[in-house]
Amino acid sequence: MAVIEIEGLKKEYRRLRGGSTIAVNGLDLVVPEGGVFGFLGPNGAGKTTTVRCLLGLIRPTSGVTRLLGVDTQKDLKSVINRVGSIVETPSLFPGFSGRKNLELLGALQGISRARVAETLDRVGLGDRGNHRVKTYSLGMKQRLGIGAALLKDPEVLILDEPANGLDPAGIKEIRELLRGLGREGRTVFVSSHILSEVRQMCDHVAILARGQLIVSGAVDDVLHERSAGGFVVRLPELDRGLEVLKRAGMEAALADGSISVKLAADQAGSITKTLADEGLYLSELRPLEADLETVFLELTRDPAGQDATSDAPADAALQDPAAGASQ
Ligand code: ATP
Repeated sequence: MAVIEIEGLKKEYRRLRGGSTIAVNGLDLVVPEGGVFGFLGPNGAGKTTTVRCLLGLIRPTSGVTRLLGVDTQKDLKSVINRVGSIVETPSLFPGFSGRKNLELLGALQGISRARVAETLDRVGLGDRGNHRVKTYSLGMKQRLGIGAALLKDPEVLILDEPANGLDPAGIKEIRELLRGLGREGRTVFVSSHILSEVRQMCDHVAILARGQLIVSGAVDDVLHERSAGGFVVRLPELDRGLEVLKRAGMEAALADGSISVKLAADQAGSITKTLADEGLYLSELRPLEADLETVFLELTRDPAGQDATSDAPADAALQDPAAGASQ
């Protein structure tokens, strides 16, 4: 069963002084059960607007949003107890401990102290639970927020940019926590504009740009389907190899201790043969993989002349503070 289904979602914000912004423009999305689903798009793509429509916080201009099979525009009440979410930064009392904060929230929902203790452990705050929230790092505050969303033991967790503003260590903690929650069988839906985060954390991804779905599928498939159309070649005599390949008419260039050659996937043999004919032997030959960043930039690039609803161009909005630092 699909946990989240969005059909033809459109949201137009009208400005007071006239004019309007179409934040989401005919979005269709299906999120399968279990695992971590990344909702990826540049700033202003319409991610938050989609999440707010899904959770009944704002009314869409048109379209249908379903959570666990229930139309959230019509009957949110019947399903909301099975869903935990953080859309805005959760409001916590900084002078109270993490435990006290969760107990206060839990009291409103009839949740026991034992469940609060269990939740603190689950988000890795068991031993800091009695410390005041104002002494917490941003990552710990975010984990406490996730703890608040988990109190009801929801089947679905919807988090808008959970790793925003965190340092690499904080991102890693969130990533491990969310992956663990996905492995337990929950469906974790996270929005993000950070590519490496989605790649490392998610099983499935949907890429959104200018309020529309660009591509959706298993992270590996989204990457796999798009070969970068080339090969990485290594051999001891790099300079000679480069010269030989170029002389044979191939588009080749030195790249980081290897040669990159632009060539169709079924043409690998011509690289081997060209080099071997000159007495040069390879130490490595592998396809150049398209990384998510390249795919993302290609897919979200604003076609020339098209009026984008986004305030920021996709390329400018691309930030990747976690790249390489959060292994
Ligand atoms: P970000 O990563 O920056 O949060 P996003 O993908 O979540 O971006 P949204 O916040 O949904 O994108 O914004 C989509 C578009 O709608 C943007 O152009 C934004 O300026 C506009 N927008 C969002 N909220 C409102 C609002 N309340 N009134 C008017 N325009 C809005």
